[in-house]
Amino acid sequence: MENKIQFKAPIEVAGAGPAGLAAAITLAHAGRRVIVHETQKEVGHRFGGDFQGIENWTTTEDALSVLKKSGITTDFTAMPSRNGTVFDGAGKPYAINSDEPLFYLVERGPGPDTFDSALLRQAQALGVEVRFNSRLRHMAGEGILAAGPRAADAIAVGYHFETDMADGYWAICDNELAPQGYAYLLVMNGRGTVKSCMFSGFKQEKRYLQRTIAAFERLVGLEMRNPQPHGGSGNFRIPDSAYSGPHPLVGEQAGFQDTLWGFGMRLAVSSGVLAAQSLLSGENYDTLWQRELKPQMKTSVVNRALFSVAGSYGYSWFLKQLVSTPNLRESLRQHYQPSWPKRLLGPWARRRYESQRKDLTCDHIDCHCIWCRGECCAHD
Ligand SMILES: Cc1cc2nc3c(=O)[nH]c(=O)nc-3n(C[C@H](O)[C@H](O)[C@H](O)COP(=O)(O)OP(=O)(O)OC[C@H]3O[C@@H](n4cnc5c(N)ncnc54)[C@H](O)[C@@H]3O)c2cc1C
Repeated sequence: MENKIQFKAPIEVAGAGPAGLAAAITLAHAGRRVIVHETQKEVGHRFGGDFQGIENWTTTEDALSVLKKSGITTDFTAMPSRNGTVFDGAGKPYAINSDEPLFYLVERGPGPDTFDSALLRQAQALGVEVRFNSRLRHMAGEGILAAGPRAADAIAVGYHFETDMADGYWAICDNELAPQGYAYLLVMNGRGTVKSCMFSGFKQEKRYLQRTIAAFERLVGLEMRNPQPHGGSGNFRIPDSAYSGPHPLVGEQAGFQDTLWGFGMRLAVSSGVLAAQSLLSGENYDTLWQRELKPQMKTSVVNRALFSVAGSYGYSWFLKQLVSTPNLRESLRQHYQPSWPKRLLGPWARRRYESQRKDLTCDHIDCHCIWCRGECCAHD
């Protein structure tokens, strides 16, 4: 049986992000030969030392335990984040306290302790061949497309920096700083990231970023040494089908994202694992992701539509509700679960929220659209 498996042609994966590597790891666990193509010279190139949170509220089970059960490593630095502060537009603080971690703060990029490097190490230890500086242009046989965002539905702009500030997280909900989004500040082990994460007003990004920096300086004494500009985009879309021809699309290439706040890493990993399982078992990938991931993503579109009309009073009201609940993690989990009011609001929300991705035919392979030519990402 083992020998028979080894004679099969290798499965190709386009993209060594969390989605592509999770798919490769799952396939390699099952004894399949896998070749991952990564267009950059290293993993996590577009993030280069960014701090991001692995959200811990969409499942009752802890996020790291879910990763382990799926066969995915947790051998990366992850700071459990329980207590923090969120401000409303008037600068009023709301203390966030949770007995259990609300998210795990991780580093992205090619460094030794990052989420990306841990996934790479696990994949390589299982025999996956990762080819860097290799942009996949044609996929002939079995394969999975995991090439990241194809449009900008939201952007996050800011800085990475060194600091003497204590570890922690802070956010501000204020359309004057981050239209329809939120500004955030994350600090871990003497380094930090500050960003304005906006869902509209991209052309005025510099102005929003300046206001974000000034607000964090005023509210929490932000101190930055050696600030380095950093930014990126996210593509949020629920496709009818996540196949391009015979090939499953995973992670943000499929548009899989948390439309409310952009916590896309878990969806990237989960979709990568599901796509690999579909290749191994012959089950239809659309059936799998629509059963496992779609209900949460549909609810997140409704949450996004509500958040985008909230305005300052709405944000303050939301924050008041959030901090007064005895179990914040559970309350957030329920916000992401389908419910009859959110089902009723679905058609309205879908009309209000529309992805910027117009060319649905772009599968990244043999394609010459601006995203595929790489002209969208000056920092690449
Ligand atoms: C600034 C910022 C902050 C974020 N913060 C959070 C957060 O706090 N929590 C969270 O959960 N999510 C966050 N996200 C979202 C999260 O980073 C993404 O959802 C996640 O990385 C998507 O994973 P992916 O594997 O689909 O794509 P990516 O991570 O983008 O990986 C795709 C890879 O494919 C490669 N590639 C592209 N084309 C080809 C090709 N033709 N051939 C070979 N390789 C190719 C790319 O170089 C890239 O390495 C953030 C995003 C940004 C931009």
